Amino acid sequence: MDRREMLHWLRCEDPEELRTLWERADRARREGVGETVHLRGLVEISNHCVRNCHYCGLRAANHRIDRYRMTAAEIVRCAEQAVALGYGTLVLQSGEDHQIEAGWLVDLIGHIKATTPLALTLSLGERSEADLRAWKAAGADRYLLRFETSNMALYRKIHPDRGDNISDRLALLRLLRRLGYETGSGVMVGIPGQHFATLVDDIFLFQELDLDMIGIGPFIPHPDTPLGQAVPSGLPKGEQVPATIAMTCKAVALARIVRPDANIPATTAVAVMDAGSGRALALQCGANVIMPNLTPLHYRERYAIYPGKADRLEAADQSDRQIREQIGALGRRVGIGQGGRLRRGGRAA
Ligand code: SF4
Repeated sequence: MDRREMLHWLRCEDPEELRTLWERADRARREGVGETVHLRGLVEISNHCVRNCHYCGLRAANHRIDRYRMTAAEIVRCAEQAVALGYGTLVLQSGEDHQIEAGWLVDLIGHIKATTPLALTLSLGERSEADLRAWKAAGADRYLLRFETSNMALYRKIHPDRGDNISDRLALLRLLRRLGYETGSGVMVGIPGQHFATLVDDIFLFQELDLDMIGIGPFIPHPDTPLGQAVPSGLPKGEQVPATIAMTCKAVALARIVRPDANIPATTAVAVMDAGSGRALALQCGANVIMPNLTPLHYRERYAIYPGKADRLEAADQSDRQIREQIGALGRRVGIGQGGRLRRGGRAA
C-alpha cells in the first residue's frame, strides 16, 4: 500500500467503502497471526514518573495524584494470578521511575522466570543501556516503548526533554532490538497538532522499525495536564486527525496490513472510549491481543494516565470472564502459551 492509498483510507468516511478496509485488515490478521487472541496480564508496578509529557496524568508536575510503588512480593502475587488465569505473558509497566533499581528488578525477573512459565514484557520508559542489558540478561523477553508520533517537532512539544537528557525513543527502540528484545512501540491517534500525513508516516515507521508489537490508542485528554483543555491544533481546517474510535480503527487496520505478523493489542484506551464495543471493533479490524489488568484495585485507580481508565474497576477474574466471552462471541479463541514473535512462515520465537 502506498502513501496515497493510506491517506485515502484515513480520510474516508463512507461506511460501505470502509467495510472493504476492515475486511482486508481482518484477512491480513487471519493470514498473519491466525484466529487466536493472546491475553497478556498487565501489572502497573509504579505510577511515579520523572517526565512531564503534556498528555499524561502521571507526569511529575501533577501533584493531584497519589503515588505508589508495588513491592516485589505484590508483583509476584500478580504473576501467580496470571499463571492461574492461563496467561502466557506478564507485562510490567510503570512511569519512568528511576527508584525502580536495575538490581532489584534483575532479582524479580530472575524469580518470576525461575518459578513460572511466563514471558516477561517490560514497559518502564527510557532507561539506560546498562539497565536494559541487565534485564535482558536476567530473562526479560520483550520491551514496549511508544514513540507516540514520528513528527519530531510535535514529539518535542508533547514529550519535553529532561534537562540535558534528550529523549530519543527511536534510537532506544533500535538499541532494544540489538539487545535481543522483542520490541513493541506505538502511537496516539488525534494528538492536537497531528496531521493526517504524520499518521501515515507513523504507520510506515512501524514497518521500517520491524516492530513485533504495535499499540495504537486514541488521545484522551486528562484535565490535570497541559493538553487537558481544548487546545487549538494550529493546523489548517480539515487537517487535524480526530481522536475517535473510527480513526483509531483505521490506523489499526492499516498497521495490520503493513505488518501482518505483528502482535497488535485492542488497547485499553479503545475500551475506555467505547466501553460497549471498542475492544470488539479493534479485534475485528486487525487486533489480536488483549491486556487484562491484574494490578490490585487499590493501585489501579491511581494509575490514571488518562481519565476513565479506572472507571470500570473489576476484579481480574471477573474481567477475564468477560474478555473470554467477548472473544468467543467473535468466533475467535484464546491463545495458549507465550504468543511471542511469529515471523512469516509460522516460525514462533
Ligand atoms: S507518558 Fe510515560 S514518560 Fe510520559 S509522563 Fe506519562 S508515564 Fe511518564
